[in-house]
Amino acid sequence: MAHTDPGRISPETLLVTAGRPAREPDAPLNVPVTFASNFVQGGDRGYARTSQPTWDAFEEVVGTLEGGRSLAFASGLAVLTAILELVPPGGVVVAPQVEYSGSRTLIDAAVAAQRFSVRFVDTSSPHDLREAIDGADLVWLETPSNPMLETVDLQAAVDAARTAGALVAVDATFASPLRLRPLDFGADLSMHSATKFMSGHSDLLMGVVSTANPELYQRLHDVRTRTGGVAGPMETWLALRGLRTLAVRLDRAEATARLLVDQLESHPSVVRVRYPGFGAIVAIELPDAATADAVVAAVTIWCPATSLGGVESTLERRRRWSAESPSVPEGLLRLSVGLESPDDLWSDLATALERSWT
Ligand SMILES: *Cc1c(COP(=O)(O)O)cnc(C)c1O
Repeated sequence: MAHTDPGRISPETLLVTAGRPAREPDAPLNVPVTFASNFVQGGDRGYARTSQPTWDAFEEVVGTLEGGRSLAFASGLAVLTAILELVPPGGVVVAPQVEYSGSRTLIDAAVAAQRFSVRFVDTSSPHDLREAIDGADLVWLETPSNPMLETVDLQAAVDAARTAGALVAVDATFASPLRLRPLDFGADLSMHSATKFMSGHSDLLMGVVSTANPELYQRLHDVRTRTGGVAGPMETWLALRGLRTLAVRLDRAEATARLLVDQLESHPSVVRVRYPGFGAIVAIELPDAATADAVVAAVTIWCPATSLGGVESTLERRRRWSAESPSVPEGLLRLSVGLESPDDLWSDLATALERSWT
């Protein structure tokens, strides 16, 4: 693999240059997808649940971006499953009161099975977070949060966790590694649902976790091999292909998101706009579920669909899912801004809002 000094090179460049085969005559520019379950003995590889050359390339790119070493998983929730495996039996986890519903469902199930206990807190309040950390084994954070778009004061959280001897793991899916590098704040683990912005084309599920701590890296590697939540080579190859364009995709989507936020903030039928100031996810609160459903039914360019971070703009009313937190307003729409023309996106949304209002 080509070697780069990540300290001197910008993330935009690393996205393109890292994880390439060595520059030799006739070498391919891209690491080819390797479909293999096993490898001839005598080398470092054995069975492909442990290691795989297509993962290596993807993990190298993410690791250089994040400032650590990375491990690819089958999905974001496979990463969270592995992180929760680090909590000793009967341990204590601090988790957000409102977070991605799938993560919450996973944590609730582990608590119901008496694997560990959990303290749910408003992680956007450094005070509440500090109060909850004493005696914890793991502080699990999500920033910006899904779908409320609240942010965490990471430095305060990491400082409090250090004092308490707790691990800090951050789900930074909404920020992508270009807008937030949790390891820079001293977080132990940074994870992403690579299903979203990293891969960026709504065509696969994957997760990835990074750490600067070699012992944690090894433990998570062992968990991955033991539990088998591994990514397929084709998914990994597609995710790497998507990752190459992350910077341009995110810059464009974020610029459009800002334009939309400006328009939405002065719109008479929008009760509240939630936007953390960066990234391409916006949440708007409409007066009730019926109004929000009417907007979803009326759009023609925006796609009514769950998930986020793809080139296509999507929107959905989050409370249509029974697993979504009751603290999320019934009329909240989560918008994932994609790469269509900002004018088209705004006129489609404005027309839908107008129709739902009259
Ligand atoms: C989608 C999502 C996940 C789960 O990732 P999968 O790849 O769907 O398993 C975790 N966290 C956040 C913030 C997400 O948006």
